[in-house]
Amino acid sequence: MSGKEKIEIDEDTEMPSRAWEGIRVHQQYIKGPHLDPSTPITEDKIRFVCISDTHGKIERSPLCMPPGDVLLHAGDFTMRGQMKEIEKFDSYLGYLPYKVKVVIAGNHDLTLDDDLSQLNMESFGISKSDIKTHLKSKGIKSVKQMLSHAVYLQDSSVSICGIKIYGSPWFCLSGHGDISGGDNNSGCVELLNTVQKRVKPKYHVFGHIHEGYGVTSDGYTVFINASICNKKYQATNPPIVFDYAIPEGHNKEELLYMDKDF
Ligand SMILES: [Zn+2]
Repeated sequence: MSGKEKIEIDEDTEMPSRAWEGIRVHQQYIKGPHLDPSTPITEDKIRFVCISDTHGKIERSPLCMPPGDVLLHAGDFTMRGQMKEIEKFDSYLGYLPYKVKVVIAGNHDLTLDDDLSQLNMESFGISKSDIKTHLKSKGIKSVKQMLSHAVYLQDSSVSICGIKIYGSPWFCLSGHGDISGGDNNSGCVELLNTVQKRVKPKYHVFGHIHEGYGVTSDGYTVFINASICNKKYQATNPPIVFDYAIPEGHNKEELLYMDKDF
C-alpha cells in the first residue's frame, strides 16, 4: 500500500449527509457499471458474485444465484447471530457451487464478535454459556469455525489467484450506497475518506443499509452495496456480479487448491 495519507476526523462526522454534500462536489458519482450475470465467464477473469444482508432469508427461499467463481458475502447473514442461524447459513454455503466463498460479519452477526459483553448478548436473548456448550458439542473453539465452508475475514485479507481481498466487519459507508429512509446518508465519513484517499481499492463491496442496494463509482473505485434484503427484510434484490482480470502468473486452477484456514 503506498501513500499512507493520514485520515483526519471530519468536522461533520456526526452528520454524514452534510459531510457528503461537501465531499460530493469534488468527485464523480457514476451509476453502475453493471455486468449482466448472463455474460459468459472467461478463463482470464474471476467472476465475483456479491451478496450481503441475507439475514437468514435466502436459505429458506433460495434466490436464483448467478454462476460465478467466488462468492463474496459482505455481512449480516443472520438476524441475531444465533447458533442455529449460523449452522443454517453454513450448510447453505456448502450447497452453493462457487469454488471459494468469502464471508465477513455484519452488526447482526453479533456472536462473531469475541469482545461483545455478556450483557449485550443477553439483551438479544443469547447466552454466552449456551454458545460455549454448543461449541464444545461440535468440538470447535470459536463461532467463526462454524463457517466451515467459508474463508472468514475479520480485519484480515486473502489472496485469490493473485487478487487481494481485505475484509472488515461492522461498517457502512457515507456517500455511496448508504441512503436510508428520508434520503439521509448514514455511513461513516472517515471510512469513505479511508477508502478513497488511502486504500483506493478497485472494488468496495459492502451492505448494511438495505435501501442503498446498487452499484456506483467515483471513476476509480466501484462501490457495491449488495444488500439482498429490502427494508422489510424480504430477499428481493438479485446478487451483483463483476469480473476481475487475473494478474499475470496466476490462473483459475488455484481456486481448487485454496486453504480455507486463515
Ligand atoms: Zn441488514
